[in-house]
Amino acid sequence: MSTLEIRGLRASVAGKQILRGIDLTLRSGEVHAVMGPNGAGKSTLSAVIMGKPGYEVLAGSVTLDGIDVLALPAWQRATAGLHLIMQYPTEVPGVMLDAVLGEALISRGRDTSTLGQVLLAEAKRIGFEERFLHRPLNVDLSGGEKKRNETLQLAVLRAKFAILDELDSGLDIDALRDCSRRVEDLSNDTSDGHEPMGVLAITHYSRLLNELKPDHVHILVKGRIVTSGGPELADVLESDGYAAFVPEEDLIDEATASSGGLDGLFAL
Ligand code: ADP
Ligand code: MG
Repeated sequence: MSTLEIRGLRASVAGKQILRGIDLTLRSGEVHAVMGPNGAGKSTLSAVIMGKPGYEVLAGSVTLDGIDVLALPAWQRATAGLHLIMQYPTEVPGVMLDAVLGEALISRGRDTSTLGQVLLAEAKRIGFEERFLHRPLNVDLSGGEKKRNETLQLAVLRAKFAILDELDSGLDIDALRDCSRRVEDLSNDTSDGHEPMGVLAITHYSRLLNELKPDHVHILVKGRIVTSGGPELADVLESDGYAAFVPEEDLIDEATASSGGLDGLFAL
């Protein structure tokens, strides 16, 4: 069993503090949904965990089975078992999908002799066209095809923890169902002695969670987790929106900011 532990994480981008103390513990096989409005810091959280350049960690820690993740370059975070599916997958001209996965497996000390078969089986399972397997990564693919492709990579690499940054953005209902169902299966899969995958599913819509069943739901507002609960919390959000979860001090901040209050005048 593996544990990804985030403690007191504060981070800034472009000199502005975005994450204001995040605590989260994920274990193998658990699905945690982090839900929040636009601008809450969801993508920032995924970027900081994975080591995207441009983010400054101000305080706190991220550990994977006790290893200090924040001290590692992004590629070592990946080989250690973290995998990010980005909100907008990157196109990489000239670099073939099958070649990338072969190299990724080798760097993890894993066998590549069955990669061809595994790829075909995964492509079929997730509705990804076979002809894309030996094509440059994500180039000219539709939004839905990109997310199927990213989910296929996740399944082939069998990360310990998947971080999904709005897997549900830019894809149609069928692709959403196929991708979220595949991730749900990975979170339950203990075949061949595998650890079931732990999942941090970042989203602002509960539709992702129709197939991908969260064990825990956390609401992120302005860089802080303001409420955590079970799957029923996603239903409350769906009916009531985020407004009910904005902490009182943030409402006061907003009121003074929008009325040109003294906070703004004396800032810095
Ligand atoms: P979410 O994913 O929840 O919509 P983000 O993490 O993308 O939110 O952004 C949180 C805040 O950080 C926003 O106010 C956004 O404008 C700001 N931000 C994110 N990335 C940058 C950046 N590279 N430069 C400046 N501000 C940024
Ligand atoms: Mg985002």
